[in-house]
Amino acid sequence: MKRRNFLQKASLTSLGVMVSVSATSCKTKKEDTKPLSYLNNKGIKPIVIATWNVPNATAKAWQVLQNGGSALDAVEQGCRIEEEDTSNSSVGKGGLPDRDGNVTLDACIMDKDGNYGAVMNVQNITHVISLARRVMEETPHVILAGKGAEKFGYEQGFTKENLLTESSKKAWDKWKETSQYNPIINIENHDTIGMLAIDSRGDISGACTTSGLAYKMAGRIGDSPIIGSGLFIDNEVGGATATGMGEEVLKTVGSFLIVELMRQGKTPQEACEEAVRRVVKKSGDRFKDFQVGFIAINKEGETGAFCIHEWFTYTVYKQGENKNYKSSYYNKA
Ligand code: ASP
Repeated sequence: MKRRNFLQKASLTSLGVMVSVSATSCKTKKEDTKPLSYLNNKGIKPIVIATWNVPNATAKAWQVLQNGGSALDAVEQGCRIEEEDTSNSSVGKGGLPDRDGNVTLDACIMDKDGNYGAVMNVQNITHVISLARRVMEETPHVILAGKGAEKFGYEQGFTKENLLTESSKKAWDKWKETSQYNPIINIENHDTIGMLAIDSRGDISGACTTSGLAYKMAGRIGDSPIIGSGLFIDNEVGGATATGMGEEVLKTVGSFLIVELMRQGKTPQEACEEAVRRVVKKSGDRFKDFQVGFIAINKEGETGAFCIHEWFTYTVYKQGENKNYKSSYYNKA
């Protein structure tokens, strides 16, 4: 199977803006047993960061945080916005189907206590991020796949829906004229949504939801629902999430790697850059033909983002401002 170079060659425009607020120390209240999250009081808390240009999703998450909600509620509610947006062709309802014409969704969620829930290869249910949360909270398992996940969803009251919209069907019909497998990641501003948030208590959670690669083989699973690859949270350190060619993210367990690098003292930006370099190095020359992007946040509310090629953007909602930033990147060749 050949992956052709999909990358648009374009002139270098302004590089991404790194949002970074240093932690400042000051006296902690007696009952405060979390010095790092207290530091974050002086930094930026609450905060939401998400892959791609998803202002409605980050606004929803921000609203939850402003109302005193948890980071877990914020990332779930934020992701649901993209899942129900049928104009987003790589998440939820309206996601592009696999090569057999079935829309199959993957999602995962991770909370401040290190609990994790995921669903994979789910058909007919729009809000798979909420389904992943139910797996985490209502079952003795962490992952449910395919028909079993769907069945569990209906038992939990989720609605059965046709996820293939008219426009996705049209796109699939057009694809069938050539049936070429040629993943296009990163050209548009809608893609897998990975979201990380810190709430007003300083706790971190994350979520990731996707329809995966368009026209993938039936049964294909990418990085997005896999703990440590598409998403990882450690409430003592920070969190990271990925977008792009899942097959390549999986080989480096990229999100876990970023959190561990931050644990060792790297900033979120440095950690994202190192993870991208690992992906590139492992790929030989192939990195020229695929995109991978990471975002990360540490306990202090500092953020980072890095990708292989130009065009990856991310959205940050902090201090009342909801902004999209262009990520810095490794190589535009
Ligand atoms: N990472 C996703 C996957 O491989 C795709 C994406 O980010 O668009 O399934």
